[in-house]
Amino acid sequence: MSKWLDKCNNCNSEDSSDFWDYKDGTVLCDKCQKAIGEQWEKEHSYYKPLINQKTILTNLHNKGCVLINSNKFDKAIKNFDKILSIEPKNLSALVNKSFALIKLNKYAETIDLCNKALSIDSNNLGALHNKSYALSSLSKFDEALKIYNKILSINPKNTDAISGKKIALDNLNKKTQ
Ligand SMILES: [Zn+2]
Repeated sequence: MSKWLDKCNNCNSEDSSDFWDYKDGTVLCDKCQKAIGEQWEKEHSYYKPLINQKTILTNLHNKGCVLINSNKFDKAIKNFDKILSIEPKNLSALVNKSFALIKLNKYAETIDLCNKALSIDSNNLGALHNKSYALSSLSKFDEALKIYNKILSINPKNTDAISGKKIALDNLNKKTQ
């Protein structure tokens, strides 16, 4: 396990919005802190309070990326959702979640999420790339083509957009024949 993953030493849960770090090295999840923390504090006499929000966001981001890399897309999405519940306009969470949704073949949801990201940053390459992929997967090649052109206007050498554009054009030509 990667060392940045928080894990409760009492119940082994990795799923808690807050983790409590005790100075003796014990980590408790929120639930266990409520249940046994008070007793624990008496016995161990001192503790360091909650990790701060920035650390929580970084942990959730890292954990989400680890889960994506291990093909656990549903669990990854839960981590990105937690980030978005704290910061609804967190761009990397929006883009990473849209990537996980592609892997689950949830293309319509991918497009919604990418649109949200693009309303914050209209040139976000990750969101443009994921949206074009989802549109192509839904055979919406005319819409995908617009996005490939947009990506190529930002970076003419983007190989994904070059090959995606070719596939979109081939399919559009097929349709008109
Ligand atoms: Zn626990």
